[in-house]
Amino acid sequence: MSDRPLWIVQPPLRCGAFAQGQPGQICGRPAAWLRPAIASAPPTFLCDDDRTADVIPIPAGVEYRRVSVTLEILLCGAPGGAAVAHAEAVERLERAIGAVGGVINLHACRSQVGQSSSPVAARRPPVGRGEG
Ligand SMILES: [Zn+2]
Repeated sequence: MSDRPLWIVQPPLRCGAFAQGQPGQICGRPAAWLRPAIASAPPTFLCDDDRTADVIPIPAGVEYRRVSVTLEILLCGAPGGAAVAHAEAVERLERAIGAVGGVINLHACRSQVGQSSSPVAARRPPVGRGEG
């Protein structure tokens, strides 16, 4: 019997092939294949584009390292009150984190209204506005 945890919140398995021309970076796309361990190389998940001849479909119950990063993300809230701002912020972050192959395991979302301490940087007005 394994005493390793059973992941309930599961990020998509990502391709571990090294990206072409980007030293140290992996492909990271969703993986469907497993290249079993060979002599000096650990088992590696691979995407359709990077799979090799020796791959097998990823079996149920496969073990993998799940990375958890703890940080605080600050966003300007969407208008409409705290509930709307919280929902919009979480949805936006889910899309952004999903784009890099992650999932959010939300613990808390809170907000507070405060006053800007510095002038907002001027930006060029959108095309067709602000001129003439
Ligand atoms: Zn890949």
